[in-house]
Amino acid sequence: MKSTVVTFPSGLTSGRSTIAGIVPVGDRHGLVVAETPFHPLDHTWPDQPADRGTIGGLPVVDCVTGAQSNTGEVFLGADIPARRGAEGWEWLVVHVSEEPLPEGAEVELSVDPAYRAALSAGHTACHLAALALNAALAGRWRKEVRPDSLGRPDFDQAAITSSRIVPGGSVDVYRLGKSLRKKGFSAEDLDPAEVAGQVNDRLTAWVTAGAPVRLEAPGPELTARRTWHCALPEGEASIPCGGTHVSRTSELGGVEVSLAFAPEEATLTMRTTVRTAVQP
Ligand SMILES: [Zn+2]
Repeated sequence: MKSTVVTFPSGLTSGRSTIAGIVPVGDRHGLVVAETPFHPLDHTWPDQPADRGTIGGLPVVDCVTGAQSNTGEVFLGADIPARRGAEGWEWLVVHVSEEPLPEGAEVELSVDPAYRAALSAGHTACHLAALALNAALAGRWRKEVRPDSLGRPDFDQAAITSSRIVPGGSVDVYRLGKSLRKKGFSAEDLDPAEVAGQVNDRLTAWVTAGAPVRLEAPGPELTARRTWHCALPEGEASIPCGGTHVSRTSELGGVEVSLAFAPEEATLTMRTTVRTAVQP
């Protein structure tokens, strides 16, 4: 099998391809095709969930990342021992089905467009919220820290522990522990509601601006290092990203965050909601 060509970065939700191989996934069947519109769960940064839909008319019950070594062995998801996109491996989109399909068969692939749209909206909102949070917390840094693409201290990159895209939103968890303090961040008297208010004001301006969003892909394969770009009024924002997005911020209608601080765990959780996202 060769690395799967993916068409989801350009927004496609359907396609036609040939079954290139089948790998066992427990009692189920992992169908691999040459080219797919399906977005699988990433094994290294599992932020955006797998697409739903059908392959050859069969329901795709899960969609995961696979890696085939040069000895032909295929590893799935968390069991992959190689770095994402490492040389000497074939990187596969594995469509998990209860039923097999014959190798060589030509099949229709179709992604549930409403579910995809809700995830794309949630993912774009997640990136915008991260940038707006960086702006709201910029004054709390006492040391030089790597800036984001808009030139502000990148709190998101420095403190994030997990990011989950959900239909029409996202949940991001940041750690405000000792190591962040050593990097120069002060969480003293941080008022989550006040910070959320500043984030929301900026998000409203960015959504109203109707800024164009695009994904830059250096190649067509699953693990190509793609970059999210958004031409915001205050500059061109960019973030490395393997997911899917809307094409203009105004498609989001409105984006709002809430922030919750848990002192025992020293975590700050940001819940981002797209107000007009299509729910599946
Ligand atoms: Zn992303």
